Amino acid sequence: MPLREKLCFLDSQGIAECGLDEKRFDVLEDRIFGVFEVAPEQVKGKMCTTSAFVVAHPGNGIEPWVGAFTNYEAIGINLALWQNIFTPFESFLHGMLTGYIGENRFNSIKGAEFIKIKMDDESDFKPGLNYTLAQMIFHEVAHLVEADLKKPAFHCLPKLEEQQGLPLIEPEASAYCEKYLHPDQDITLLEKLQNSNVVSLYATCSKAEDFAETYTAYIMSEHLNRNFTAIVDDREIFSSARHLQSEKLKGKVNTIKTILNFGKLTDSKKLQLARQHKSCTGAFSQN
Ligand SMILES: [Zn+2]
Repeated sequence: MPLREKLCFLDSQGIAECGLDEKRFDVLEDRIFGVFEVAPEQVKGKMCTTSAFVVAHPGNGIEPWVGAFTNYEAIGINLALWQNIFTPFESFLHGMLTGYIGENRFNSIKGAEFIKIKMDDESDFKPGLNYTLAQMIFHEVAHLVEADLKKPAFHCLPKLEEQQGLPLIEPEASAYCEKYLHPDQDITLLEKLQNSNVVSLYATCSKAEDFAETYTAYIMSEHLNRNFTAIVDDREIFSSARHLQSEKLKGKVNTIKTILNFGKLTDSKKLQLARQHKSCTGAFSQN
């Protein structure tokens, strides 16, 4: 099915219109195709089988999501991305590193304005590629990939309460996240993140978000070669590449590598992996 037929727009009444032939959607189609071209095979496969890429009207207050239209797999795209608001990529990364969901509200760390984001010198840059859109699509595809796994991919990894180094609290009642960060954080939070076993602040929210964030960070680093550093007064306080290669993330990163290559394995290898996964040994275990 051609990409154009999968493009949908969800208006403020929650009504979706698909197969958008208006010229103003040309740019969105080009950008999604640009992400497709650089994506690993597994992501390409998911982008092909996904029924719809839906741009949500801001009136809905909807962030990118998956699984809309109940029986169909769909990927949501924030309107801001279609309109290129989160460019350059550095400003999106800045928001991701300095913003977090505290219980009941969105917070920003104190002194966020003193933090500068710099892409690593050896990072690749492909003109015309919207890296923010790429990052969001990979994240949503990760949720679809995880849904395909018989057991949660992180079945054998530490539970959220065993997360290391970050000041997390549990919500009092049922809430969107299983864990939240304590309110009133400052820039030391990024140093704590650097020494933690989660790739981003949002990954602390739930196991599913942890999986999606790790999957995305791995692809951004290994397949797109986009690594970055957060700096305050010429001092580095966070390095995405160093973090992803750290001992604390090794188990999760190895799991992602295996899952990304799952389609290429023989049937007996797949079976073997499933068995290892069940008993929490082998490729899906922490070490
Ligand atoms: Zn998510």
